[in-house]
Amino acid sequence: MTKVPFNKPYLTGKEAHYIYQAVYSGKISGNGIFTKKCQEFFENRYGFKKSLLTTSCTDALEMCAILAEIQPGDEVIVPSYTFVSTALAFVRQGAKIVFADSCPDNPNIDASHIEELITPNTKAIVPVHYAGVACDMDPIMDLARKYNLLVIEDAAQAIDSYYKGRPLGSIGHLAAFSFHETKNIISGEGGMLAINEERFIRRAEIIWEKGTNRAEFFRGEVNKYGWVDTGSSFLPSEVIAAFLWAQLENLENIQQRRRELWNRYNDVFSAVVLPRITLPNIPSYATNNAHMYYLICQSLEQRTELIKKLKEKGILAVFHYLSLHSSEYYRDKHDGRVLSNADHFAECLVRLPMFYELTNDEVDEIAHLVSG
Ligand SMILES: *Cc1c(COP(=O)(O)O)cnc(C)c1O
Repeated sequence: MTKVPFNKPYLTGKEAHYIYQAVYSGKISGNGIFTKKCQEFFENRYGFKKSLLTTSCTDALEMCAILAEIQPGDEVIVPSYTFVSTALAFVRQGAKIVFADSCPDNPNIDASHIEELITPNTKAIVPVHYAGVACDMDPIMDLARKYNLLVIEDAAQAIDSYYKGRPLGSIGHLAAFSFHETKNIISGEGGMLAINEERFIRRAEIIWEKGTNRAEFFRGEVNKYGWVDTGSSFLPSEVIAAFLWAQLENLENIQQRRRELWNRYNDVFSAVVLPRITLPNIPSYATNNAHMYYLICQSLEQRTELIKKLKEKGILAVFHYLSLHSSEYYRDKHDGRVLSNADHFAECLVRLPMFYELTNDEVDEIAHLVSG
């Protein structure tokens, strides 16, 4: 008997209206009016040189792996505490993944221990902004310059969040966002590639449209189009883009409500002394986009108890990633280094319900149960 789900996708009310418009405009394949509106919105608001909608963040990461020209034998540095796609997109191009540990007090990649993982085969670093909270990007970008590496931000959770005043997704060479229904801004399934360097734009458009120069043709830049490179069908239909546009029109409102809920949890927990539970740590260089409210227990047993206690009251709290370095698929390929912070978050982090339509009363009830 679930009373409070973990997530509930929020509809602004305009989604079906815009989908209707897209359908009856007669153009429902990709790269039409709604796609362009969404892409321009992101470019204007966050300063990306180019934004391309994709069918998922996973797809956007696969595009990054192709653009980075990852070859078999190349190494890519990825945090172990992340979603499968962060690593898998590069594995499909033949990369060897070198897993990095999290910070001691925050699930993000520990920037102070990346340099020791770099070898002559390293091609890219993929920081993941966990919970929409920025990784420490300055030292990461310094390493990229020093060793001539690409930085690809996995910004799946990081829409509308900032590092020292700069929008996440605009700092690395490339970035990938998700509009999966579990994120702040949604389109069911969906994603975006953000490109911050001119040199990638032309090739990205070609990879996006099945290896053809179709985009240039429709802009009148070439008089016929054909097969010019590798690629796939990475672009979503206008139906998806129309849905996303309804969400983008409400971005401020969605973000404001999520922040209120996040702060309400945090205020209640900060006011009582929670035995053996640590609250989220937002570093001073980072903003909080209220993607997630999590707590960190001291042990797996304690977390299991807490999840059970909430479940008995009909409240769904959930744990998150299992460390990728010890996954069934990758553990035999991992070099054996122990990543104790990643394992700690895998065992001890618990996420509380967080969605637009969660009520203040529900937050109070959940917070009361956790602290009681
Ligand atoms: C959600 C998520 C993804 C995958 O996004 P999709 O749009 O479902 O492909 C990748 N990385 C992280 C960190 C995520 O949270």
